[in-house]
Amino acid sequence: MEPFIKLPESKEEKSDHWMSSRYTIQSKEEDGSLYLSNTYSGAFINVPPKHVTSVKNILKNGYDGELEGLPKILAHRGFIVKETTNELFRARMLHEIAGRKNDTLQLIFLVTEQCNFRCTYCYEKFEKGKMTKEVRESIKKYVRNKARFLKYLNIHWFGGEPLIAMDVIEELSLEFKKVCEEFDITYTASVTTNGYNLSPTNVKKLIEYNVSYFQVTVDGDHEHHDRTRHLAGGQSTFEKIWKNLLAMKETNEKFLCRIRVNFLKENLPDVPNFIDKIKENFSEDDRFAVNFFPVGQWGGPNDEELNVLTERDATKSALSLCDLAVDKGLNNVLDDILKPGGYVCYAAKPNSFVIGSDGMIYKCTVALYNEKNHIGTLQPDGTMDLDMDKFALWVMNDEGEDPGCQKCFFRPSCQGSACPLVRIETGEAPCPPEKKYIKQVVRVVGREKKRQLEKSKVKS
Ligand code: SF4
Ligand code: SF4
Repeated sequence: MEPFIKLPESKEEKSDHWMSSRYTIQSKEEDGSLYLSNTYSGAFINVPPKHVTSVKNILKNGYDGELEGLPKILAHRGFIVKETTNELFRARMLHEIAGRKNDTLQLIFLVTEQCNFRCTYCYEKFEKGKMTKEVRESIKKYVRNKARFLKYLNIHWFGGEPLIAMDVIEELSLEFKKVCEEFDITYTASVTTNGYNLSPTNVKKLIEYNVSYFQVTVDGDHEHHDRTRHLAGGQSTFEKIWKNLLAMKETNEKFLCRIRVNFLKENLPDVPNFIDKIKENFSEDDRFAVNFFPVGQWGGPNDEELNVLTERDATKSALSLCDLAVDKGLNNVLDDILKPGGYVCYAAKPNSFVIGSDGMIYKCTVALYNEKNHIGTLQPDGTMDLDMDKFALWVMNDEGEDPGCQKCFFRPSCQGSACPLVRIETGEAPCPPEKKYIKQVVRVVGREKKRQLEKSKVKS
């Protein structure tokens, strides 16, 4: 939250005609203030009630003259731009620059394609096992071959359930750490886990292996969670996961742990109570965040029986839950979606690959059985044998060819690539569902920023 207190101390701006950026979003708050967000500059401010009329007037009618006071602040944050600015061109440039980041590599590993859980909505078939020795050696060679070009290596441990193959994580992590030290590469890692094996020992190890971001999914409190997210033998899992999360809180380690709450029609009414439980245990600890995710029919064997919500109800419910969580003092991660590139899926990025346990290379972690997603194989010498036509489907299939995307206010964030799979399968622009409720999104983000500001004031 940037209050209107300090003016930037730069030289006088040349007079010109300024107008609202096409990427500026306005959203009113109940107290009469106004949130402004810009998806190109990433700026976000809260305009106090006494300035709202003037700001709205500038955004509506433009501004001529010297940049002083409010107009200067709006211009410096990118909420107004000179009328000669080619914003469409700028948005395209944003995409081009991101696409050319050859010094960054993101690898998502399916370290095992087995899982200790059998969630009722899971889409995985569990046909393959733990990552083979040959594939592990190929990966090591691949990363070493790439190392001299890299400044950043980001690894994501995924599965199946990655923590049932800790030995693979351990072996590869040690190698990546060594290579990154040797070549002066910044190495970061993250993990998506069901949390069952997230014991204090494993947390300690993972943090030693540079894992700083954990995503753990729960489906509410135990009565719901244990029905939909049970072990392969049907046993309950909630208590163990919760104990692991509480133990994580007791450490002094630095990390961000996002508790993702999945919801279907049946557990939705109880999620607010579960938010209270998270609040009681985690609201004082900034290392924990929550988000809410509607379960969909993702291609699993039980799809027909799932009580999924319509897209409209699911999005509205998720936003209301976010609002409630923020109100209860929990951290959320919603604001990334308003930032430039914040909604681009990794599958659309040319420097991001998913590597399966048998060396198959994918772009998307969901459509694992879709031929278009089988873009190549990792070779024993550490090279990738890629089908460039399939690769192009994921990385070139975006805003560039879509006139609707080009004019869209959300373009800098989404870049027409919120879900390349949707575009590949339907030919339609994969607009994120939140786009329709963008004012509500901005309001929730604004409330969270306000609360964080208040929290930091109390601390200092
Ligand atoms: S392409 Fe779509 S389904 Fe696949 S990982 Fe990206 S957002 Fe998810
Ligand atoms: S996919 Fe939709 S939200 Fe994204 S840029 Fe295109 S029109 Fe905008």
